[in-house]
Formats: sequence, structure tokens, C-alpha cells
Amino acid sequence: MNAPAETRKFEAEVAQVLHLVTHSLYSHKEIFLRELISNASDACDKLRFESIAKPELSAGDSELHIDVSWDEAARTVTVHDNGIGMSRDEVVANIGTIASSGTRRFLEAMSGEQKADARLIGQFGVGFYSAFVVADKVTVITRRADAPAGEGVKWESDGKGEYTLEPVELAERGTSVILHLKADEDEFLKGWQLRSLIRKYSDHVAFPIRIPKEAPEKDGEEAPAVEWETANDASALWTKPRADISDEDYQGFYKSLGHDFNDALAWTHNRVEGSQSFTTLLYIPSQPPFDLMMGGRDERKGLKLYIKRVFIMDAAEELLPNYLRFVRGVVDADDLPLNVSREILQQNRQLDRIKGACVKRVLDLIEKLAKDEPGKFTTFYKAFGNTLKEGISEDANNRERIAKLLRFASTKGEGSAQTVSFDDYIGRMAVGQDTLWFITADSYAAALGSPQLEAFKAKGIEVLLMSDRIDEWMLGSLSEYAGKKLKNVAKGELPLDEADKKKQEQASKAAEPLLKKLKELLGDRVGEVKVSARLTDSPSCLALSDYEMAPHLTRLLREAGHDMPENKPTLEINPQHALLKRVEAETDEAKARDLATLLLEQAEIAAGAQLPDPAAFVQRMNRVLLG
Ligand code: ADP
Ligand code: MG
Repeated sequence: MNAPAETRKFEAEVAQVLHLVTHSLYSHKEIFLRELISNASDACDKLRFESIAKPELSAGDSELHIDVSWDEAARTVTVHDNGIGMSRDEVVANIGTIASSGTRRFLEAMSGEQKADARLIGQFGVGFYSAFVVADKVTVITRRADAPAGEGVKWESDGKGEYTLEPVELAERGTSVILHLKADEDEFLKGWQLRSLIRKYSDHVAFPIRIPKEAPEKDGEEAPAVEWETANDASALWTKPRADISDEDYQGFYKSLGHDFNDALAWTHNRVEGSQSFTTLLYIPSQPPFDLMMGGRDERKGLKLYIKRVFIMDAAEELLPNYLRFVRGVVDADDLPLNVSREILQQNRQLDRIKGACVKRVLDLIEKLAKDEPGKFTTFYKAFGNTLKEGISEDANNRERIAKLLRFASTKGEGSAQTVSFDDYIGRMAVGQDTLWFITADSYAAALGSPQLEAFKAKGIEVLLMSDRIDEWMLGSLSEYAGKKLKNVAKGELPLDEADKKKQEQASKAAEPLLKKLKELLGDRVGEVKVSARLTDSPSCLALSDYEMAPHLTRLLREAGHDMPENKPTLEINPQHALLKRVEAETDEAKARDLATLLLEQAEIAAGAQLPDPAAFVQRMNRVLLG
């Protein structure tokens, strides 16, 4: 009945990962042990979960554990678990032929600027292959918990493009991964070394990780039965009282949870008792994990849902909104039904409460950093500030709280550093000012150099300089903060006091012939030409209507392939400027058109818009330069 032994090829991408793993990952080789133990622990979690509905799966052998052993003579290290095991098809799908979505991301990350670092491998869901960092042959012997003894599978590969599959008899369920060590990897054949690696990387795995007590060898006698001892802490950390957990424990747990090797930046650990009891342990990493950086939003991992200490599933999407997707951790609920499915979870009322509590805890934590630990807050904001901004539109209920946490560069800030909050701004506002002013641009320099700022600078009014791509989009959902309006200095009419209004009217009247001349010269390229109240030094700038998108953003979206409507810009001019005097005086129509067009084009460039015809611009500029 069993399929015969056969040889198969890895899919091209898996072969590439293996090549990379065997040839480039020299540092931190020991990570293989953490990854194999993590898989064994996942397998035990899965068995425990499936046993809820089918207790017979773990009958007779319900003490789940992971055994790490070594054989000096055979030069092997074996990681064994009595977890769920794999069927033949699962072996092929999970560790054999087929590339997972993480495979490509791993390849991209490792061939990019990122120095190949073995410690990253687990973050991509390809941790199993780290076995080939230290082994030149790997054997997996496994049997699924619900399969008969005759349906064991032996998988073996030297990691060079092919593997063999063979049916085997296996009396017990579970998986053994046997590493045939490369010639110079003898350090892993020592009990103290394996034990210390387990302590270092896997102390907080919730199942006992056992290792043989080293018994003195007795020549000629029958080998004594192996005596095992547990090498890790083997408890669910989050179930302990906070006072019993050291910072080191928290950090250790975080690292094994997130396959991270950096410390977490901060965490919050809470127990809610009541009609519905649950525990949350939530971490903010100190650096963006790879899935965040690479836009991998398809399969969010990192927040594990337990019910009464039984791991149920990765439920990051169910437990946290998208804008907090950088959070890692554990939620353990006492009162959810153990047989929940993802579908049930998505419409579960209790879960809504837990989700609300998670959001609150994370926002509390970030607020605490902002208040008490500015250094950490800066690190947080650099790493995740732009992700947090998504919450402005995603989480209307917490909009004000999130807005309070945002920081920007400002005309009254410290250079390009994003340190000014809306509250800082309001604290410095002049009496009677009811608007928070900002400008958006491609970069800090472009924002700071915007001609539209000139009148604000002259009057000493602070302007926030926003240069992250998400800012313009975010501001679409944030029209007010603390009862004050938020307005773009480049958009709409400026609110002028009576004196300014008069001046503006007079200037417009005086410039009427010039405005008419410019409109005729520019024809279709502009919607309107007006005298500006924004300019003091520059000759011209663009002004947008309240609903128009900033030109730099229109350009970016167009470059990304979006169909953007052609907007005819409003050109604002400063009639006092010498260039406008020149246009006024110029009688040669061709020369006047060149000047007028350059006035428009420089305003477009300053706003980050795309020139419709850059070559024509250059020719025009050269004609004017040569007089
Ligand atoms: P990840 O653990 O992130 O899914 P890995 O490359 O570490 O990625 O493992 C790939 C898959 O192989 C696992 O998802 C699991 O399905 C399977 N697997 C690996 N080791 C075991 C094991 N000890 N028991 C059962 N399944 C395993
Ligand atoms: Mg794994």
C-alpha cells in the first residue's frame, strides 16, 4: 500500500534558499537549534489543539515534550518531538518541494543590503532550512498522530537540490529531525553546549525540552536506558505574576516568540479579571520586523491566541488593528470556547472586548514611553511612527489619542527631527490663532523651502513640515485636533485680517493687467492666475483648492501607475518681484511667454509636481539665460 521510495527535486526557489543557507550563513550557526525546537513546539501545540476534539490523538502519551540528543560516533544531533507529526503530503508541502511565500521574501532580504544573518531566518517562515547551516545531510522521520504505524515517512536530503521520500514503520507519532553534522561542527556534539543553547534561545518554550543526563560510558555493558533531564524553564511565562518575572525573562520570551535576536523596546503585561478574564502580554519590537518593512501584509503573524494555556492560532488580525501590526505577543483568554474557528472568532463579541483591551494597552504603553522615556519613544517613532499614522483613519475611536502621539518637523522645531507634537504647537500659538498650519512635501528640504511658507515666516506663525508619504493621506482623516482646524498653507484662501485683506484687494486691482497678460500667455496650462497673499520673496507658487491633492503626491501616484485626473493649477504671483516686473515690461511676445511659463514651471518644481515637458523647460531656461 505504501508508495515506494522516490527522489524528488526542490522547487527552484527552495533550492536557492538552501544554496544561500549552506554557502552564506556562517554567523550564528547555532540558530538552527532554536528553529528546530520552535517547530517541535509548534507541533506539540497543534497536537494539543487537535486533541480537544479528538482526545484519542494523544491517548497513552499525553506528556508532550521535545528531546534533544546527540551521538558522537555517528556525528548526529537529533531533535525529537511527540507532537502532531506529518503525513507524506505534508512533508512534501512543508519542507519539501514547495516554496512558501516566505521563501521569496527571505531571498529578497538576504540578497539585498541586509547582511546575510542566520538569525533572521525564522522571521520568514523558512526556519527549517537553517538545519543545513550545520548539517550536510538532514533526515526527517515523522508520523502523523492520526495515521497508523505503517504510514511513517522518511525524508532525507543533502540540501543540494534533491531529496528522497520513503515510507517507514513508526510505532509512535511525532517527528525526529536528525542532523548529520558537517565536518567542522563538532562543537554541537557536546551536552553542555546544547544545554546552554537551549537555555539561551529556548528557555521559554512552554514544553519541556529534555536532554540526556550524561552517564559515564561503560564498555562492554549494555547501554543503560537514557535518563532525561529538562533543560528549559518550560512554563507559560505570561501566566506568572509580574513580580516573579525578571526583565531578562521578558526579553527571552520575546525573542523566542518573535524569532527576533534584538531586545524588545517595551512591553505591557496585564491580567483582566471579571465576567470575562484574560491575560495579555504585548511587546513593541525595537526594529521593524521584516514583514512590516517589506509590505508583507498578507499573513500577519506575531500575536498568538491561547485559550486556557492551549495555543489556538496566530490571531494577529483578529486581535489587533492593522496599524498596530508591529506588536508581538500573547493573548490568553479563559472564557472563549476551545473549539473556536477563525470564522467564529471574527464575529465573537468577547473577542471585540479583548481586541479593545489590546489596543488600549498598546496605546497606554506608547503614551508612557512618550512621557517617561523620550529616548525609547524616539526609537519607537522612527520605526513605527508611519505605521501608527494609519490609525488616524483606521481607528476613529482613538483618533485623538493617536494624533497626540504624532511628531513632526516644524519651522519652530529642531531641524529635520520629527519632534513637534500638535500639543507643542498649540502651546506656542498666538492668542486668537485657531488653526494648526502644515505643509506636505516630498522631503524635509522641499517642505522647508516651499514658497507658500513665506508669509507665515514673516508673521512668525509656526508651520508643521510634513514629508512622509502617508502624511497627506492621513490628513484626509484629520481635519481637527483639540478643537483647532488643521490646514495646509498651500490650500484654499488664507484667513486675512482686515488690514491684510485691504492690501490684498488693492494689490490685486493694481495687478489686473499683469494677471490678464499672464493668463493669456499661459493659456491652457493654468486654471487661474492670482495675486498671492502667501509670498514675500519668491515670484510665484501654486495654490490648491481645499480638495485638491498635493502635486508631489499626484506625481507619486501617477508614477505608481494610477490614473490621476489632470488638474489645471492655480498660479499665484508676487507682483512686487523683479521677474514679474520684467514680464510686465516685456513687449516681445515670445520672450514674455518664456518668462511666464518659467514662473509657472518653477512653482511646479517647488511643489514637487512633474513637468509635462522637461526638455522644453530646459530649452526655455537656456533661451532666457542667454537673453
Ligand atoms: P515555519 O515554522 O515558520 O512554518 P519552518 O521552515 O520552520 O517554517 O517549518 C516549515 C513547516 O514544516 C512548518 O510550518 C510545519 O508545517 C512543518 N514542520 C517542521 N518541523 C515540524 C515538526 N517537528 N513537526 C511537524 N511539522 C513540522
Ligand atoms: Mg519554524
